[in-house]
Amino acid sequence: MSTESTLSIIKPDGVEKRIIGEIYSRFERAGLAIAAAKMMRLTPDQARSFYAVHKDRSFFDRLINFIASGPIMVQVLTGNDAIHKNRDLMGATNPKEAAPGTIRCDFARGIDDEETHRNIVHGSDSRESAEAEIGFFFKPEEIFVQGR
Ligand code: UDP
Ligand code: MG
Repeated sequence: MSTESTLSIIKPDGVEKRIIGEIYSRFERAGLAIAAAKMMRLTPDQARSFYAVHKDRSFFDRLINFIASGPIMVQVLTGNDAIHKNRDLMGATNPKEAAPGTIRCDFARGIDDEETHRNIVHGSDSRESAEAEIGFFFKPEEIFVQGR
């Protein structure tokens, strides 16, 4: 496996719960470096654009309202097999199905199916989505990959 970069977001529920530091510790302990980071709030239009692949899904409006409801922490994670590693740290989309020790299981307890949007973190799911999602949030000069 080679060095990759992936886009991670701590959603408004994670920021509100004050677990940015705990989540960053998990990334770093797993060998992923924070190569870029910023806190921001998405407008509904930006949220619709970021999640455009889901526009026809029943949960789309709930997801957009939620992700634009407060500040998010956005970061580029870099390391060996970063895309897959971050997805493993996150756990399954539905926190009820996420394995113990994953971010979604540990920090989104008690979330029922209609609230699946409140699952703490986002992570790119492929090299193609990682590249597009990193470009959505960061300019090349805002990304600092160690050893480069
Ligand atoms: N989502 C939801 N209900 C669902 C599936 C997804 O609210 O039944 C939300 C959830 O916040 C999820 C996001 O939409 O993280 C994007 O869905 P995706 O299938 O891409 O899941 P992910 O890649 O985040 O695990
Ligand atoms: Mg996804």
